[in-house]
Amino acid sequence: MTAQTVQQGDLVTVIGLEVHVQLETNTKIFCGCSTAPADGPNEHVCPVCLGLPGALPVLNEAAVEAAVKIGKAIDATIPEETRFHRKNYYYPDLPKNFQITQYDEPICQDGELEISLEGERHTIAIERAHLEEDPGSLQHVGGSIDTAEYTLVDYNRAGTPLMEIVTAPDFRSPKEVRAFLAELEEVLEYLAVFDASRDGSLRVDANLSIIDGERVSDDGSIELADLEAANRTEVKNISSHKGAEKALAYEETRQKNAVRRGREVEQETRHWDESRGITVSMRSKEAEKDYRYFAEADLPPLRVAHWKDEIAIPELPKARRERFASEYGLGEEAASKLTSTKQVADFYEDVASEFDPDLAATWVADELLGELNYRDMQITDIEGRLEEIATLVELVATDEITAKNAKEVVLRGMLDERDDPETIVDREGLGKTDDDAVQAAVLEAIEENPDAVADYEAGEGGAINFLVGQVMQKTGGSADPGDVNGLLRAELE
Ligand SMILES: [Zn+2]
Repeated sequence: MTAQTVQQGDLVTVIGLEVHVQLETNTKIFCGCSTAPADGPNEHVCPVCLGLPGALPVLNEAAVEAAVKIGKAIDATIPEETRFHRKNYYYPDLPKNFQITQYDEPICQDGELEISLEGERHTIAIERAHLEEDPGSLQHVGGSIDTAEYTLVDYNRAGTPLMEIVTAPDFRSPKEVRAFLAELEEVLEYLAVFDASRDGSLRVDANLSIIDGERVSDDGSIELADLEAANRTEVKNISSHKGAEKALAYEETRQKNAVRRGREVEQETRHWDESRGITVSMRSKEAEKDYRYFAEADLPPLRVAHWKDEIAIPELPKARRERFASEYGLGEEAASKLTSTKQVADFYEDVASEFDPDLAATWVADELLGELNYRDMQITDIEGRLEEIATLVELVATDEITAKNAKEVVLRGMLDERDDPETIVDREGLGKTDDDAVQAAVLEAIEENPDAVADYEAGEGGAINFLVGQVMQKTGGSADPGDVNGLLRAELE
């Protein structure tokens, strides 16, 4: 529960989430169909995921493993036994007319996830996380859900394993929701159970209600009865952190305006229309009893408690951030950038083990990630070339080239022309000039520019910069300007 100061008479926003996450498994949750992207619609289908009469589901072990990993990561209880249920509803993307999901015995119960927002930490309680199958996908042709001319259905997605993560109503702002989704995605990627780049891999339904600030106690908690008494809307079809913040900010304003004008907020389901940036009423009012949950008789209960000990998970982003701060002396911002994905963190540790951790942090967090970001690239796009980046850091660490050339010429050349660092250094003649050559250039510059020397001796500070420039020119920019300055002064004394 978030503790915040609430002004008496204020309107307080209360948000809870249901996050649907596609699990990265090779095959679907109850059949052997591939989950890989297909060339066309309705290619990865079989009698089970099409719901043909008599077809029987078989549970995919990899999906259960992924669920247990998530449970461990959010510090949830994994029960002795878990069970599947049928959730009955009629919808064109659900060929069986029921979805196999979990009901009162979910695989993960009572977890939590900590988020950090503007320097403050909040713990968001996770009530449950359960396994279920994804429905197929609908394509609204000629518009959005309420304006389309007709709709096509594709069952490739039907049966893809999903984890539904349900939070407590612990969010007090759309910003917190965005921070939570970003943190959750990071954790899921560390666990290697999720691929954020996959279209529709994260989908969010959010419940939002507005409560009178007087109903909120000093520690930020709200009585369940007050929560239940408030009318709330469920916003569906949110597919990104940014989208979540936008959709909920829209909904928050809409509801607050209604309350301030003395109008009732209708309890309803609303659809987030990303392209129009608004939520629209769907006028559907299913309650839990409408789903007529009953036990899935085709799948026996599954004993899972012992899986928790048998399945290992890697060090998670939060723990790694804290370790990076203490072990390498990194600030919060650098530690957070360097742990943004497991691959970035692993690469940083490789480089930091060989060179100075500060130098490694500058090169990985600022230079490399900065240049990648500028090109709209991820570290995964240069997966096979990390060795070359390490070589570049080595060239700087061993003083072979200047940091300026390393960044502006070599790193950019590596990313834009895909050459290796040594080739670029040779081609551009960037190797630092050796000391003798720099010394010779210093003497030459002094001899060729008596006026500047006279100015320097007369106490004109700017003259030294002119001489440094001359030496830099003679050495083709490969000398260190600071060193040259020192050598000139020594020579002129
Ligand atoms: Zn299938």
